[in-house]
Amino acid sequence: MRDPRYDILFEPVQIGPVRTRNRFYQVPHCNGMGHVHPSAMASMRGIKAQGGWGVVCTEECEISPQSEFSPCIEARLWDERDIPALARMCEAVHQHGSLAGVELAFNGYSAPNRYSREIPWAPSNTPVRGYDPVQARAMSRADIKHLREMHRAAALRAREAGFDIVYVYAGHDLGLPFHFLTPRNNRRTDEYGGVLENRIRLLRELIEDTRDAVGDRCAVAVRLAVDEQVSGGLSREGEGAEIFSILADLPDLWDINVADWSNDSITSRFAAEGYQEAFLTGLKALTTKPVVGVGRFTSPDTMASLVRRGVLDLIGAARPSIADPFLPKKIEEGRMDEIRECIGCNVCVSGDHTSTPLRCTQNPTMGEEWRRGWHPESVRRVHSPGRALVIGAGPAGLECARVLGARGMEVALVEGLRQVGGRVALESRLPGLSNWSRVIDYRLDALSRLASVEIYRESRLEAQDVLDFAAAHVFIATGSRWRRDGLGRALRQALPGLETLPILTPDDVMAGAVPPSPVLLFDDDHYYMGSVLAERLVVQGVDVIFVTPAADVATWTHNTLEQHRIQRRLLELNVTIITSHTLATATPDDAIASCVYTGRPRVIPAACLLLVTSREPEQALYGALDQSPGSLWAAGIKTVALVGDCLAPGTIAAAVYSGHRQAREFDAAADSLVMRREIACLEVK
Ligand code: ADP
Ligand code: SF4
Repeated sequence: MRDPRYDILFEPVQIGPVRTRNRFYQVPHCNGMGHVHPSAMASMRGIKAQGGWGVVCTEECEISPQSEFSPCIEARLWDERDIPALARMCEAVHQHGSLAGVELAFNGYSAPNRYSREIPWAPSNTPVRGYDPVQARAMSRADIKHLREMHRAAALRAREAGFDIVYVYAGHDLGLPFHFLTPRNNRRTDEYGGVLENRIRLLRELIEDTRDAVGDRCAVAVRLAVDEQVSGGLSREGEGAEIFSILADLPDLWDINVADWSNDSITSRFAAEGYQEAFLTGLKALTTKPVVGVGRFTSPDTMASLVRRGVLDLIGAARPSIADPFLPKKIEEGRMDEIRECIGCNVCVSGDHTSTPLRCTQNPTMGEEWRRGWHPESVRRVHSPGRALVIGAGPAGLECARVLGARGMEVALVEGLRQVGGRVALESRLPGLSNWSRVIDYRLDALSRLASVEIYRESRLEAQDVLDFAAAHVFIATGSRWRRDGLGRALRQALPGLETLPILTPDDVMAGAVPPSPVLLFDDDHYYMGSVLAERLVVQGVDVIFVTPAADVATWTHNTLEQHRIQRRLLELNVTIITSHTLATATPDDAIASCVYTGRPRVIPAACLLLVTSREPEQALYGALDQSPGSLWAAGIKTVALVGDCLAPGTIAAAVYSGHRQAREFDAAADSLVMRREIACLEVK
């Protein structure tokens, strides 16, 4: 039964000519599938609708090759041939009684047009965003007219595809209408530049054009970033609110956020749930139209409070809807404990940056709905339920046991330590990563509801114990250990001179070791671990010299929108950062690094080395079992599988995925495990 405190979240809201059944609104979000994998995208959106999101939107949708976002894979409405792919998404969303929204996007100087080679357009002559050697050219009045025609035509195609809400996109410092709003991008002297009324003109015209074209049947939404958080940029207290109040009642819906994307989708390491509220508060009083906003909301209390306090009409979500497509249904049915809360890691964002289908740490089915046929809330029951033994209760073992239990197996999940959670239990105690413990919380809670799963703690298993247990299926999820010899990407053999200096690994620091100062932290991992350990050690009074072969700190975190924040934090903590250097030798009082370009040596005084390079899978147990197949057979063990980091160390997302996949697929015939794909249809010669 639903808690009456949350009834307010299930009220319908009128949005122009359409009405949403509740206040749960999946705002536009990229997914790395878009126009290249349209059925996969449609299926993923359909499941969100099934999970109760009243509105489900696309990602950015290109309206013309004059502004295309390659190599990022987004939706596309260039011409009528793009309509069927998006019609498929609309059908999937409508099937569950939800509204479908499309974010028409024209990104001006933010899109270098790598594919189409069209010269990008901007309010004024300017280099494109990023480092492509391309300049956008100042639009003529004829270009502006042409843009308006293209936008209008795309809106008509969107209506034909079946969309209920059509966006004009002025967000994230990406959409061209946003570039016209800001004096730092708009230096025009005609009626589209200068005073605010002129800079707003294009946005106003696009809203009016869209309403004129499709407003009879579709709501017109505006996504506006009201604050850029850069000096000289738009600010909520300045022109941000002014623009909003001037256009207050023109669109049917306001979708408000902050620019740029890294500020809008900030990770939990750098901001808590609800972090955008200060920018949203007060705007609703300036309009009679509904307002949607985001803030990585996963708490129904926060959501209900935002509506009650008049901050928002609709609860916007991208990441929370990825982590749990069934979040609204769970609130509706009073199953709050079952919500799979987003941990704010932005692994999902990396799909867009790497042009691959999105993945999610918490929800291993995300992106797999169509190609593997995985549903986030249901699994096929096993034909002949038997006993399963899962060894190791890290993210892989927890997820494996959860899915096996849901499939009807009798499961023993055995953990050597008192504490479950494996690496997540340790890593979530590092600075800024406390939300990551939700990976454990969700799974422990789910396991507690499965009567057929037992958890045994403080039970370290040896091979004989496994044989004695006599389960039909054994899943080994024993994790991995950080290497102590420096081997990784840069060093392909152990670092010479290791015996001369004290050596620590991340495992030691997470176990409480505090190294002598100064410590040379060699980061050849390039994700978060090196930087969070540096933070922890500085707080403990240790001087840290951070050495990396990459050109910047934690370079992979560009993909999670965090790199600039991480590097800034280390600089603010007075960590000495030495980039583009690898380690060459350790000596009793220092280490010798060498420049990755010139090989020139550099002596770095250090009392200790902390090596964050690579991990070794913990396969001793598997190795022992593998040596005696006859004993396995005699014990009635039919299958033994390695799962998660003990198969190959990777991200937490990869460990959860591995556990999930093994539990789903261990009993399937190999030829039934086809990964579906969509192939481009050949044009007539
Ligand atoms: P993953 O990310 O693959 O889940 P983790 O390193 O997070 O891996 O977790 C592995 C877990 O397995 C740890 O909690 C560890 O204590 C446990 N473990 C390792 N070896 C054994 C064993 N022989 N018996 C029981 N538990 C084990
Ligand atoms: Fe949230 Fe991380 Fe999943 Fe993205 S990948 S939805 S941030 S848990």
